[in-house]
Amino acid sequence: MKIDFYKTSGLVPVIIQDDRTLQVLMLGYMNEEAFNKTKNEGIVTFFSRSKNRLWTKGEESGNFLIMKNIAVDCDQDTILIKVVPKNLVCHTGSFSCFGDKDSKGFLYELEDKISQRIDDKIEDSYTYSLFQKGINKMAQKVGEEAVELVIEAKDNNEDLFKNEAADLLYHFLILLKAKNFSLQEIEEILINRQ
Ligand code: AMP
Ligand code: ZN
Ligand code: ZN
Ligand code: ZN
Repeated sequence: MKIDFYKTSGLVPVIIQDDRTLQVLMLGYMNEEAFNKTKNEGIVTFFSRSKNRLWTKGEESGNFLIMKNIAVDCDQDTILIKVVPKNLVCHTGSFSCFGDKDSKGFLYELEDKISQRIDDKIEDSYTYSLFQKGINKMAQKVGEEAVELVIEAKDNNEDLFKNEAADLLYHFLILLKAKNFSLQEIEEILINRQ
């Protein structure tokens, strides 16, 4: 991978994109040193123009950007990095620096939250406690919620039906995570069937 750092000022713009939702999260700059450090450590380090030094995103807040994939544009002067963000990306408290209006939707945000609960081993979270019980238990929960949905489908209580549908989606996302698949991959299967 060749990047033309000296075409401009030694700094190349870097677009940061969420690996799961494909939401654009922020834009930063890298010099060659920041780029090499990012590649070696797997955690995004920029060159901050305001701090005038290497800046590992999250160095104060702990909100690191875990690198998943690097791509370079057609004329080697812009970098696109897909990341899994640890928590919020923007220091103003929104998830993305460009606001939260353009995410792929709440299900993808929920998928992220479920991932975080599990990866960060949050002890008092229901999600993590279910995860710890193992794959059979998680799969069984999906089965139970599906059966509950079937039962409610035969009744006429809209509220109960909708709540069981929500339970099913939530447990389905936990099972996907436990099997190391993403909602995106499942969506792609549906898209390719069209
Ligand atoms: P952090 O790197 O997340 O520990 O944040 C350290 C400092 O970097 C913050 O106080 C902000 O000044 C700045 N900063 C953090 N995140 C961003 C961001 N997404 N865009 C611009 N500046 C940021
Ligand atoms: Zn270009
Ligand atoms: Zn921001
Ligand atoms: Zn239920």
